[in-house]
Amino acid sequence: MPQLKSQLNLKPLLTDYYKGLKSPIAWCTSVGPVEILRALGFEVYFPENHGALLGASRMAAQYIPKAHQAGYAGEICSYLTSDIGAWLSGETPLTKAYGIAEVPKPDLIVFNTNQCREVAEWFNFFSREYGCPTVGIFPPRHLETISTADIDQVVAQFEAVIDVAEKVAGSRLDPGRLREVVALSREASDLWTRVLSTAKNVPAPMTFFDDTILMAPIVVLRGTQECINFYSAALAELEGLVGTNTAAVPEERLRIYWEGMPIWGRLRFLADMFKVNGAAVVASTYCNSWIFDSLDPDDPLRSLAHAYTQIFINRGENAKLDMLVKMSAGFQIDGMLFHDSKTCFNNTNSRFGLPQRFREKTGLPTLTIDGDLNDLRFFSDGQTQTRLETFFEQLVAHQKLTRA
Ligand code: SF4
Repeated sequence: MPQLKSQLNLKPLLTDYYKGLKSPIAWCTSVGPVEILRALGFEVYFPENHGALLGASRMAAQYIPKAHQAGYAGEICSYLTSDIGAWLSGETPLTKAYGIAEVPKPDLIVFNTNQCREVAEWFNFFSREYGCPTVGIFPPRHLETISTADIDQVVAQFEAVIDVAEKVAGSRLDPGRLREVVALSREASDLWTRVLSTAKNVPAPMTFFDDTILMAPIVVLRGTQECINFYSAALAELEGLVGTNTAAVPEERLRIYWEGMPIWGRLRFLADMFKVNGAAVVASTYCNSWIFDSLDPDDPLRSLAHAYTQIFINRGENAKLDMLVKMSAGFQIDGMLFHDSKTCFNNTNSRFGLPQRFREKTGLPTLTIDGDLNDLRFFSDGQTQTRLETFFEQLVAHQKLTRA
């Protein structure tokens, strides 16, 4: 995988983040209202980031069976099963990665089902284990458009979160501090957008496989100055690479969009295979999910409600199609790859005819591959390689046809 200098800044940044997790600590879903929690003085821990680390470190396989034994089925979210399995085993990859003995104990748990109902089951497991206050946000789901009534409903639920969180924190939410944290999040989101947009250049200076590494701070540190500093440096590096036309994939001949979850345990295998074939994955739904361009410090609660309700995973199929079409044009893609993630139907968009509708609308080829975010029993190296290599040849033939 190509090594960006900015990636080297991650280790000390994330080590400081994990070592700095001191009470009061809130656990939060990755697209939950972290700004409210930070403004109240909580350090915030994200179990999904832990789940991704279990996948990327290839440790998930040893823990998933533990969760099955505890009653969690094999077909449900493998972040959930690997994370609960690791907890039941009394182990964490944070020990090796950052010198942390165990996951930090929560004083408060907050989840938002804007992404899936699985997070409620997952976080409620820990609520029972730790016996700490837990609040769920249940926004309207699968929206084609977002109405004022939808936002009102989410704001009311955020206010309920604030009530509980203030009691745990022992202090009132300072509106000025909330505005500051929302402003920091917005600035980080804008920088992240610009980082991802550098891949609009032909050739792209980085790919999806780099993005999955660079994205950690926008998940775990948004709302902080450290997050802004990290993406300012990353953007400067990437703009430098664009200026010299440096390619992440030498002899880039194909530009591909990745739709769906990463396959955390096979990122390097996939990055190498794409590279050998001159195929750059220049954009993805997944990494774009942490762009919150409606955040507005002058209207913090309503803009938070809007930002966390309008995410791709929470949209209807027509809205999703429009977003994919727009992205494919903006990044000049040659084809779209759908990942059918077997334990996350929420972030799998290939099962209800979306690839067909995308092809009809854009004329671009698509391919659906089978796999999973963490459970590699659902992924085959050989089968995937064969299918991808055939797809690459199809894309080259399509290019010749359409550019003739
Ligand atoms: S969106 Fe998918 S991967 Fe993420 S928590 Fe929900 S089920 Fe798991």
